[in-house]
Amino acid sequence: MLPCHIVFEIYSSLWDWVERLSRQPPSTLAIYVYEQRTESGASFFDPEGKDGGPELCIHNPGRDSRSVRPVDDARVLTKLVTLSHEVGHATSWHTNADDAWPDYSAASTHYIQVRTMLALQRFGIECTEPMRVAAAAVVAELTERERDVIWREENRAWEIGERLLRERGFGDWEAFEERRAPQLRSYAIMLGRVKYEPCDFTALS
Ligand SMILES: [Zn+2]
Repeated sequence: MLPCHIVFEIYSSLWDWVERLSRQPPSTLAIYVYEQRTESGASFFDPEGKDGGPELCIHNPGRDSRSVRPVDDARVLTKLVTLSHEVGHATSWHTNADDAWPDYSAASTHYIQVRTMLALQRFGIECTEPMRVAAAAVVAELTERERDVIWREENRAWEIGERLLRERGFGDWEAFEERRAPQLRSYAIMLGRVKYEPCDFTALS
């Protein structure tokens, strides 16, 4: 378990990283960074978010107003792992290393549907038959290509996040995996990569 002040330092360093990203070419747009309460409870990176510009938001149940600094408590570790993933998306978008973002953006409408389902899971809403049908419908609407770009981007964001954390001396990979594994698992379910089982939803948080 990393000391809280180290976790806090890494957390702050990641915010600094993404803020610096937003000032580098070729991007001429600011990356909006927030720590705030979001209706769905989700944290996200959206290249076409607030005012049409990229937006990175870390959900914080205790906050309503914009902030780029965390509260210094036990939640910071969880928030750090989440932030590393979202910064991974922001970095991926900014560098567009393998030219994947145009395709990924094209899949965004369907992606939002997937994300909405994932948000429902996070609240631990009991999996009902209508929900199973809705989940199947989302999967059915996604093309194989869309599923592939979403899956690759989700993995890429975790890989970049892991690298950024490692470079900053992070070492609590158990906490990292506790967050990464269920998130990827839920994507695997929603993208039809693993067989859907109702009990899978109750295990997610
Ligand atoms: Zn993601």
